[in-house]
Amino acid sequence: MLYQSEGIVLDQQDLGETDKLSTIFTEEEGLVKAVVKGGAKPGSKLRGLTQPFTYGLFQLWRGRNFDRVTQVSVKDSFPLIMEDYEKMVYGRYVAELLITVLPERVRDQNQFRFVLSVFRCLEEKDDPWVIARWAELGILSLGGFAPTFSSCISCEKSLGEGPVYFSLRNGGALCADCIDEHSTPREVPEGSQIRQYDEIIKISPGALRTLQILSSKPISGSYQSDKLMCPRINAVGQVREEITLLLRKYMAFVLEKRLRSANLVESIEDARR
Ligand SMILES: [Zn+2]
Repeated sequence: MLYQSEGIVLDQQDLGETDKLSTIFTEEEGLVKAVVKGGAKPGSKLRGLTQPFTYGLFQLWRGRNFDRVTQVSVKDSFPLIMEDYEKMVYGRYVAELLITVLPERVRDQNQFRFVLSVFRCLEEKDDPWVIARWAELGILSLGGFAPTFSSCISCEKSLGEGPVYFSLRNGGALCADCIDEHSTPREVPEGSQIRQYDEIIKISPGALRTLQILSSKPISGSYQSDKLMCPRINAVGQVREEITLLLRKYMAFVLEKRLRSANLVESIEDARR
C-alpha cells in the first residue's frame, strides 16, 4: 500500500551492496525504517534525497519488514547544519535521541513539529549547546519523561530562592526543606559514571532558572507549531557546567543507555571548559 507523509530523515545506513536503509520520522506514521532501492549506487537520485536532516514530502510503500521510499519532494535539507561540524554533531545527537525515545510507527505530531523547530533553530542560532539542551528537555517531555523544575516535587512549593536539589529517581527538583526526607545530598565527582540512581544533585538558583526557561515551552502546549521561537538564553560558566552535568546524568538514567553520538558531543563540550 502506498502512502504519503511529511517526514524528516534521522539516519541512513548501508543495506547490502546496493541499497540504503533510512530511518524517517514521519508525521503520519511516526518512526519508520524505509529501504532506498539502489541508494548505494553512484548517481542514484533517491540517495541524496534520503540523507539525514532531509525534510520533505515522502511517498512510501508499506512493506512487511521495511517500507520503501518511492518518491521524495524536498522542502528543506538544513544545509547550514551539514556545513558546520559542531552543528552536525549536535544534529546527529538529537536524531539519535529521537530514534531512541520514539516507538516505531506511532504517530506523534507534537513531537514531529517540535523537532522541525529544533533543526531550524540549530541552523539559525550560533550556540548549539542551548538548542541541544532545549531539544533534550522537549523530546523527553513529549516522550513522557518530563523533569519538573517549576516546583518541589514533594511539597509542591514553588522554587526560586536558595539552592534546590534534583532527584534523578524522581525526575524533579526538591526544595531544601524536603531534601532530608528523600536522601542526603552528596557532591558528585565530575565525569563519574552513575552508580546510584537515587542520586541527588544540587542546583544553583541560576541553573534552576535557566532549566525552567528551557523546559517551559514544550510543556506549555505551544509546541504544535513548527515555528517556535528559538530559546534565547545565555548560559555561561558555572551555570552551563551544572546543566550539562545534570542533563547528562538524567539522560543516562531515563534512557538506560548511552547514545553513541554522545561521545562527540561531550568531547566538544569538555574542550570548551
Ligand atoms: Zn519541598
